[in-house]
Amino acid sequence: MTTVYNFSAGPAVLPKPVLEKAQSELLDYKNSGMSVMELSHRSSEFEAIIQDAEQLLRELMQIPDNYKVLFLQGGASLQFTMVPLNLAQNKKVQYINTGTWSKKAIAEAKKLSNVEVEVIASSEDQNFTYIPEVTEDMIDPDAAYIHITTNNTIEGTAFTDLPNTGKVPLVADMSSNILANNYQVSDFGLIYAGAQKNIGPAGLTVVIIREDLLGLTDVPSAMLDYKLQAANDSLYNTPPTYSIYIAKLVFEWLKEQGNIATILKQDEEKAALLYEAIDRSSLFSSPVAPAFRSLTNIPFVTGNETLDKKFIAEATKQGFKNLKGHRLVGGMRASLYNAFPIEGVRALIDFMETFEKENGGKN
Ligand SMILES: *Cc1c(COP(=O)(O)O)cnc(C)c1O
Repeated sequence: MTTVYNFSAGPAVLPKPVLEKAQSELLDYKNSGMSVMELSHRSSEFEAIIQDAEQLLRELMQIPDNYKVLFLQGGASLQFTMVPLNLAQNKKVQYINTGTWSKKAIAEAKKLSNVEVEVIASSEDQNFTYIPEVTEDMIDPDAAYIHITTNNTIEGTAFTDLPNTGKVPLVADMSSNILANNYQVSDFGLIYAGAQKNIGPAGLTVVIIREDLLGLTDVPSAMLDYKLQAANDSLYNTPPTYSIYIAKLVFEWLKEQGNIATILKQDEEKAALLYEAIDRSSLFSSPVAPAFRSLTNIPFVTGNETLDKKFIAEATKQGFKNLKGHRLVGGMRASLYNAFPIEGVRALIDFMETFEKENGGKN
């Protein structure tokens, strides 16, 4: 098998030891004679898996006891609807618009006729290349929540400081930097994340919700009701069992690295290497100002679309996969999630330097 480095924004690279463990257990999970995929979600084996997954996530993120952890389906995109449906019917909500995913979250909330949506800050005026300032006077104390996207996967920006929302719950789409930041869970009312960026395979969505936010409204669907999902320990219907199993293995792998602080340090080191290479290059540049740069998604451009295409084509041939930027931003994007190895960053930088020499830096 040839070595490739997978820079995909999602579904994304998984830790090799996790895939090897899954392979070794694929046909016979713990002498059950069955694959995890074949286990009943009501079996004692699967119950242990989902409970361990929750416990490990609680330890890693230091989730306080008054928060529920839910393993749901429908992706982060279904949370765009579930959040207002559960927290804000007949109420006002406030959103910060920092990119394509924020916009989608806003658009979905607006579809609920009994939710009033206000966008209090936006960076759309500059193609979402920065994080707008949010001051306390912008916050309506009667709002049901303030919604942010902590890391903007497509544009490559991230909140380093969280807005101070006072008593109004802060709700975060953390899909692309969950487990890659030092936010405190207690600063949020609700956190959600699709698993396929920094947790595990697609099909699983993690929701972390403060208990007092359960049961605030009548939700006209059992599947969309956080309270019911929490009361059933995420087993109201058949959950994505195999995705939960892989997530559990990823959490175990993360714990072996140490804690979130150790992981964050590794992520900072990887990102710093690439940003330094981009900043010292006379060919490549970053569209994002240093203060707002994401650790997990790093867009860069040559400023010449033809050259970008050539770079991507040559990189792909050398085993640097999925470097093409999102179609809305263009250029390149390297996603450096927790499972992405630092050797891959070093190899990419070498390749960029060679490409720059051969294709003449702008100077
Ligand atoms: C990928 C992504 C989404 C969409 O996730 P799905 O699981 O595909 O619905 C939403 N928000 C952010 C920040 C993302 O990175």
